[in-house]
Amino acid sequence: MPWYRALLGIMLTFGTITALFGCDTRTDKPKPSAKGVVHQKKVPRAAEPLGAATYDMSKVPQVYGMRKFPYPYQAMLALSSDADSETLRKFNLVHQFINTREMTPAGRGLGLDFADSFFMYNANNQHGYVDIHHQPMSHELSYFQGVTNQPYGAAVIHRYIHAGWIDTIHTFGDFSQVDQTKTRFTRRLAQQGIEALKQAGDHITVWTDHGNKSNVDNFGSYGIAPFFNYQQGANSTSPYYHTDFTIPYGVRFVWADNSSEMFGMNSMIYPLRLPDGRRVWGFSRHTSYGYNSKGGPLWDWTVWQIWRQLTPAHLHDIEKRHQYSIVAQHLNGGVSQFPLPEESIRGLKLLAREYHHGSILVARTSRLLQYNVAQQYVKYKVTHVDGKAFIHILSIDDPVFGIHVPTLDEIRGLTFYTSNPDGTVIEIGDKSIPTDLVQRHPSDGVHPSVSVQWYPSDTTNYAITAPGVY
Ligand SMILES: [Zn+2]
Repeated sequence: MPWYRALLGIMLTFGTITALFGCDTRTDKPKPSAKGVVHQKKVPRAAEPLGAATYDMSKVPQVYGMRKFPYPYQAMLALSSDADSETLRKFNLVHQFINTREMTPAGRGLGLDFADSFFMYNANNQHGYVDIHHQPMSHELSYFQGVTNQPYGAAVIHRYIHAGWIDTIHTFGDFSQVDQTKTRFTRRLAQQGIEALKQAGDHITVWTDHGNKSNVDNFGSYGIAPFFNYQQGANSTSPYYHTDFTIPYGVRFVWADNSSEMFGMNSMIYPLRLPDGRRVWGFSRHTSYGYNSKGGPLWDWTVWQIWRQLTPAHLHDIEKRHQYSIVAQHLNGGVSQFPLPEESIRGLKLLAREYHHGSILVARTSRLLQYNVAQQYVKYKVTHVDGKAFIHILSIDDPVFGIHVPTLDEIRGLTFYTSNPDGTVIEIGDKSIPTDLVQRHPSDGVHPSVSVQWYPSDTTNYAITAPGVY
């Protein structure tokens, strides 16, 4: 091989490596010296955008397409925890550790965006305790007291919905009965629940199915196997029908009680048609690590098994493949002074490290799902005027809820590769988005980029106690 080819190969390799690893030196463009000899020199410039040297800023900016996840992240993950055995005491300890940066019994808080789920009613008559000091199942956290119209945890649940610590309704309530042929769920309770949420301005977009066959308000998997016949919530001839007002209220995403051993997926969402003809987005969660000889799932969604879920191999795999992950859990499922066991804490700390290193964006379930829709179905066009590139976001062509012009929150995090971030403008239609929401990024090894800012991190400790709420 001629010497100059070898040298070129070395230079190209060096260029690629610096782009990937964030070396902040750059190679200036060759300039003629006083004697007309072309030479190169390396100039360290700490603040210089990486990769700037490979793009010709005198040319009209080129938009190369979308980056899958907000810069600099390689993957996106949500923790999705079911409200089973939730008490306010445990809820506060879990969220102070996962969401804040304060000192907690498990060490420094992790500062992750994690939103929980809640029940509106509690009719569970199963044996056992819901918390330490022999708290009975009747002390499980719910919006109303039992199946009455009297508030129980309503005020704290309202606060946490607005603070972003709750974004998921885990069905209308914990209706699990020892005798699974019986239920205490009624359509009237569902109506009362939706009215209360509406009046309080509590907007919930995510529904996760729950519990045993007494939980007849479930609806996600009705009709797919005889086992799911108890799920009557979307069956218009059933006394337990409620999706005629629950979906119009604002539920968009439904976890339909499907187990999955997949940790990462390219997309979490799929169109789900309900028995009454309504359409929602179904979504997947990682619930199990395999199947037993009878085909039953080997669940790893208990608090004692987070170490099986949040492993270095799983996390690095979704980074490498640029995937989403929604990890199902029952973070309040334990009955101990501190709800999270040591090995679970280790897994959560591992996740936090990937987040703080800029590898995995940890986002609450509702945000991940909304981003997933936007990332998959956004329509935009690029125009060039006066030497600038304009990215016009035209619509989200949502095949389930319809084509529409997005709000700002719906396009948060969308990131576009461009040869010149400073010369690239993002607009909704023909209207520029506020400049403080536009972020410009150096090359990530592929290209530089421009993005709509993701939600700012909020590590506020929102925990409160309430008299008579356990
Ligand atoms: Zn549950």
